[in-house]
Amino acid sequence: MTDTIKALLNLSKIDSYRAHLKQGRDDLQVQKSQIQLEITEQQAQALQKEQSWHKLKSEFEGLKDTLLTKESDLKGKEERVSSIKTQKEYLASQKEISVLKKEIMDLKAQTDILSQNVGNEELQYQEFKTLSENNLQKLNQRLLDIEERFIALDEAHRDDDKTYSELISQFPFPEVLKTYQKILERTVPALSQAEGNVCGECSTRLLPQTLLLLQRGQGLHHCGRCKRILYI
Ligand SMILES: [Zn+2]
Repeated sequence: MTDTIKALLNLSKIDSYRAHLKQGRDDLQVQKSQIQLEITEQQAQALQKEQSWHKLKSEFEGLKDTLLTKESDLKGKEERVSSIKTQKEYLASQKEISVLKKEIMDLKAQTDILSQNVGNEELQYQEFKTLSENNLQKLNQRLLDIEERFIALDEAHRDDDKTYSELISQFPFPEVLKTYQKILERTVPALSQAEGNVCGECSTRLLPQTLLLLQRGQGLHHCGRCKRILYI
C-alpha cells in the first residue's frame, strides 16, 4: 500500500465516522420532532376535553339559575293567591302557577340529565388528564434521553474534529487531498478497496490495467463508475 493511500485511509476512517455521527444526529432530530409533535397533540386533546367539560358545566349552571328564578317566581305567585279578590284573577293566577310548575318540572328533568353529563364529561377529562400526564412524563423523559445522546455525540464529535484538522493540516499530498475532498462532497467513503476485480463500493468491474497499476502501487486510480479512489 502506498503512503498516499495510507494517509488517505486515515482520513477516510474519520470521515466515515463523522458521516455516521451526522446520520445519528439527524435520526435523533427526527425522533425529537416526532416526540414534540406527540406532546403538542396530547396537550391539545387535553385542552379540548377540558373546554368541552367547562362548556357543559356552565350550561348546567345557567339552567340551574333559571330553575331557581322560576322556583322563586312560583313561591311569590303562590303567596299572593290568598290576597286575590276576584274569581277571574284567581283563575288567571292558577293558570300561571300551573304553567310555571310544568316549566319547573321540565327544567328539573333537563338539569338532572345535564348534571349526569357534566359528571361523565369531568370523569372522562380527569381520566384522560391522568393518562396524558403519564404519557407526557414518558415523552419528556425520552426527550431528555435524546438530549443526553446529543451531548454524547457532540462530545465525540469535538475530539474527532480536532484530530481531523490536525490530519488535514499535516496531510503530505495537497493535490491528492483536494481530489479526495472533492469526491467526499459527493459520497462517503471517498476510497474503495478493490475486491477481486471489482470496485468494493459499487461493484463495477475494474480494467485489468488499472488492477495491474494498483498492484504495482503506481499512481492514483479511480473507479470508472463511482469515481472513488481505489486501493488494494
Ligand atoms: Zn466504484
